[in-house]
Amino acid sequence: MSLIVMKFGGSSVGTPERMQLVAKRIIERQQEGNEIIVVVSAMGDTTDDLIDQSKQLNANPPAREMDMLLSVGEQISISLLSMTIHQQGHSAVSFTGWQAGMITEKEHGKAKIKKIDPHRVITAVKNGSIAIVAGFQGMSEDGEITTLGRGGSDTTAVALAAEVGADACEIYTDVDGVYSTDPRVVKRARKLDNISYDEMLELANLGAAVLHPRAVEYAKHNNVKLVVRSSFTHNEGTVVREEAIMEQGVVVSGIAFDKNVARISILGVEDEPGVLAHVFGALADNGIDVDIIVQSGVQDGKADFSFTLSRNDADKALQVIESIRETVTHREATSDDNLVKVSIVGAGMVSNPGVAAKMFATISSLGVSIKMVSTSEIKCSCVIAPDKLSEVVIALHTAYGLDAETEVFVGGPKERR
Ligand code: ADP
Ligand code: ASP
Ligand code: MG
Repeated sequence: MSLIVMKFGGSSVGTPERMQLVAKRIIERQQEGNEIIVVVSAMGDTTDDLIDQSKQLNANPPAREMDMLLSVGEQISISLLSMTIHQQGHSAVSFTGWQAGMITEKEHGKAKIKKIDPHRVITAVKNGSIAIVAGFQGMSEDGEITTLGRGGSDTTAVALAAEVGADACEIYTDVDGVYSTDPRVVKRARKLDNISYDEMLELANLGAAVLHPRAVEYAKHNNVKLVVRSSFTHNEGTVVREEAIMEQGVVVSGIAFDKNVARISILGVEDEPGVLAHVFGALADNGIDVDIIVQSGVQDGKADFSFTLSRNDADKALQVIESIRETVTHREATSDDNLVKVSIVGAGMVSNPGVAAKMFATISSLGVSIKMVSTSEIKCSCVIAPDKLSEVVIALHTAYGLDAETEVFVGGPKERR
């Protein structure tokens, strides 16, 4: 008998009909002789709708209250899914994140899991029930409700799978696997039979929503067998594992993009030792992650520098920079949040010097200017204006020989915003 964690995303449970299909799928998997723990996200657009509602009342709500609000979405879906399974004649028990023993750091809105005590979940499963756990939510040690960051239900599922020693963690979503890029943008994206943890981690970090980056990290560190597959078809999915059998000669294996990018520029900074340490130390103390950093030349003892970060953090970052003005004197700090980042990823890039040059040439052939660049051994990212993002992704996919011979994408229309 195997123990399986099955995770269903928001669009998979977005309507009563879909909820019924998902319940059927879960029961089928149990009847194959498996013990089942389910992790489920909020239905459809619920989380976005709750955010919109909060904004109507407070443009800048306290992070604690935001977590209190957003955790409600997952509680609706666990209870409804459990009822649906009962209606289909089987036993299920729903658990909030805290009932499932999900203890997190206190950082509201992007809390990390600290430890899990899943004894109630295990007891339910041992009693023959299907355990249904709310994704995305946890509780800090002092009893405050927290959430794990957008898309965080994947992380709940993988962390739980690691803790209970599950034989597999299956991520059911609205596409039938991991593709060479978002198949909704590139119709000839290739479905991958398998992908390594490292490449998947890079793609996820660079914006591929199909898996939450922290979920991939957990899977890698705990060697969890992770499978991405469709909620609606029985097609084979994509296996994420240590070593993937990549096609011979493939230098770039995937393309990702991130629409949630802002750039902060700090102009006329007094060029003294320790300035960068002050700025980025203060940002880190405030829980703000920074991505690409560029410093331009120094003139008259003053330097300009810019960095990218998640758009949601831009206002807070400006406040932090203002708060250290006395130590880091500067003329002004500005934010541009009308930017996107496109990245190529591939373990084969290390030994191929022309790969980045081809990326720059492809982007500029579309008349798009590159505002920032960052490279590592297995990726190259360019920050550009958003207008021609789809064209850029399509052109890069072709340029690196990734196009499938025919369109193979299987997925329903995107119902989430
Ligand atoms: P869920 O609600 O199931 O968590 P998400 O919207 O978070 O679903 O993730 C699935 C979406 O990820 C797909 O609908 C697809 O548009 C997008 N996506 C982005 N990059 C990729 C990729 N490389 N392969 C597959 N899907 C991708
Ligand atoms: N409901 C949360 C979100 O929309 C978590 C998730 O779907 O994984 O981000
Ligand atoms: Mg998701």
